[in-house]
Amino acid sequence: MISRNKAGLDDFVLLENFTNEDSFIENLRIRYESNLIYTFIGPVLISVNPYKHLGIFNDEFKREYKNTNLFELPPHIYAIADNSYRTMLRENRDECILISGESGAGKTEASKYILEFIAATTINHNESIDLVKEKLLKSNSILESFGNATTTRNDNSSRFGKYMDIRFDYKGSPNGGCILNYLLEKSRVVSQAKNERNFHIFYQLLNGADDELLKILRLERQIDKYEYLNKDLITSENDQEDKVNFFDMFNALDVCDFKMEDKISLLKIISSILHLGNVKFENLSTASKKDYIKSIKKSDGECENSLENFCHMLTLDKEAASEALINRTYQVNSIAQSEKVKSPLNIDQANYARDALAKDIYERTFNWILLKINQSLEETKNSPISASSLNGNCVGILDIYGFEVFQTNGFEQFCINYCNEKLHELFIELTLKSEQEEYAAEGIVWEPIEYFNNKIICNLIEQKPISIIDFMDEECLRPGEPNDITFLDKISTYFLKHPHFECIKTMKKTTKNIKGNEFVIKHYAGPVVYNVKNFLDKNNNLLFRNLKELMLKSDNSIIKAIYTEAELSENKRHETVASQFRTGLKKLMHILYTKEPSYIRCIKTNYDKRSDYFDTELVRHQVKYLSLMENLRVRRAGFAFRKPYEQFLERYKSICPKTWPHFRGDPKDGVEEICKHLKYEREVDYSMGHSKIFIRLSKSFFDLEDLFHI
Ligand code: ATP
Ligand code: MG
Repeated sequence: MISRNKAGLDDFVLLENFTNEDSFIENLRIRYESNLIYTFIGPVLISVNPYKHLGIFNDEFKREYKNTNLFELPPHIYAIADNSYRTMLRENRDECILISGESGAGKTEASKYILEFIAATTINHNESIDLVKEKLLKSNSILESFGNATTTRNDNSSRFGKYMDIRFDYKGSPNGGCILNYLLEKSRVVSQAKNERNFHIFYQLLNGADDELLKILRLERQIDKYEYLNKDLITSENDQEDKVNFFDMFNALDVCDFKMEDKISLLKIISSILHLGNVKFENLSTASKKDYIKSIKKSDGECENSLENFCHMLTLDKEAASEALINRTYQVNSIAQSEKVKSPLNIDQANYARDALAKDIYERTFNWILLKINQSLEETKNSPISASSLNGNCVGILDIYGFEVFQTNGFEQFCINYCNEKLHELFIELTLKSEQEEYAAEGIVWEPIEYFNNKIICNLIEQKPISIIDFMDEECLRPGEPNDITFLDKISTYFLKHPHFECIKTMKKTTKNIKGNEFVIKHYAGPVVYNVKNFLDKNNNLLFRNLKELMLKSDNSIIKAIYTEAELSENKRHETVASQFRTGLKKLMHILYTKEPSYIRCIKTNYDKRSDYFDTELVRHQVKYLSLMENLRVRRAGFAFRKPYEQFLERYKSICPKTWPHFRGDPKDGVEEICKHLKYEREVDYSMGHSKIFIRLSKSFFDLEDLFHI
């Protein structure tokens, strides 16, 4: 039996001095110090990262939380998972669990606990269920290898956004799934900030591969041999962990049906990127064609080998590769014919082209991996064993990269924080705004609660036709010589008076050490100074045509799948990264709006990745921007449960003699009869709206459900 440790209050709704932020934080601290990391605000779960193992995720806990009502046991992530799952089954509708919080607050861990709980507590009524579960669980280790990295905020930071749908059959067992990904931070492939790492996979491969494999991949074990790998964090602990994770990842590839040929191709691609990073250029502009090839630096023969190794991994012709890396070809269309014009690159341009190629290969490979995992999940679902199980509903889990503020924040942080802003908008919309609007629409007596609506910030970033993204796109597509500074000038002029924007002109007065190429967005989670350097370039995301053509010549099975002729002949307008991201987020919001959400709000207690250290001010900041106090106010004053009269009557008529077996008359009167029978007090326990009944505390609702089950 799970023991109830009574430190603090396990539901903030019960907090007496509930409007006081200090007592709210004090409650979190008392619980944290007693190793109680979860607290409810009604059905919203607050999770505080303990940075230590607490022994609360074992089989016993899973058994205890299975099939229990939300507030029956102490708050736990399993209670949320179980509740979403059972609501999906009971009400026959899609659910989703939205996990938010800043980088390192515990979102990804939370998403794994949910998945593990569902896998452990649902029935395996046939073989394919077992396999789907295994695939869903294992897909994490593949995606983390390729999509996570060590940052100063988090040793295992997600560098992409992930939304995973778990599909269930009509018996309630997982029979498939689908993973969507959002904007991988691919710039990390070619450079990393101080004390950060490239994606885990590079280190896992160098530490985990045996000597024979390394030989085939023409790699050396030492990390410092590779330009694309940061040398700041080489430790034996990391090496060991990377090694273990490499085997896990490789095993997961098997589970997810990756063929031998694909696995080899995958490792060759990772190796090819490391080799490509070591290719250096010199004296390009003056050289003749013959010299271009020589111009791949020959000192110690090392760089020449790098190019050769790169080509070997992807089965490319070395001369063709060298040509493509140091020239840019243009298609010139004249009246009679179209011809190709070639112009040599200078060293900076060649470095740029090389890095663009490395990032592009990596990003496309990542998307391909995801496609394979999804195909594998799909195939299990369609296998003959499970074909008979009709599809039911799904539970989605959203785990995105958390809000980030670094010393220097670039295009990547802009996108990540934009994504968090959208998620916060959804939270406000569903828990604060529409909740209150519904009371008004239903004529329920209600004292409105003030809250900050971040829609104004979302609009600043994304609202067509005039937003930061639109200005950025306009600059990217404009002929002439647009650059980051012209972009900055435009937004600075246009948004000069916007309350959530600060430009250099106004910033100089308030902020010290400001550089000429920065702007500030005052996000819901605090102000962030963005440096516009490379914004346009990263948004444009251009890969020279001749490098794409080069890739078409590769025999590597994955490269063949991710670069296609069709792409070169397409005459489509090139879509910028921010625009694609905006479209992707719009679709995601649409998916989430169609589902019934549950929330997990993750909080970190310090910036040092330490256990047993509660930095009150850091927690206070998060409590503020996560709108937890407003959330609590609405919860306390509001109604946890509501249902249209007809549906309520239909479901619960059997518990009241006056409504069973039929109630003739207005369903609202029938509902009133049931409430009287239950001795509910009107306006205390419940309120009657125009079309729905509103029940105040969820506890009374669960009592009701229990009665119903008897
Ligand atoms: P990001 O936005 O950077 O991806 P995140 O919110 O996903 O951050 P996690 O990777 O889930 O953060 O957590 C960071 C680290 O915190 C984990 O690697 C783990 O060490 C620790 N941690 C998180 N949750 C727990 C938990 N429930 N118990 C113990 N440790 C935890
Ligand atoms: Mg994460």
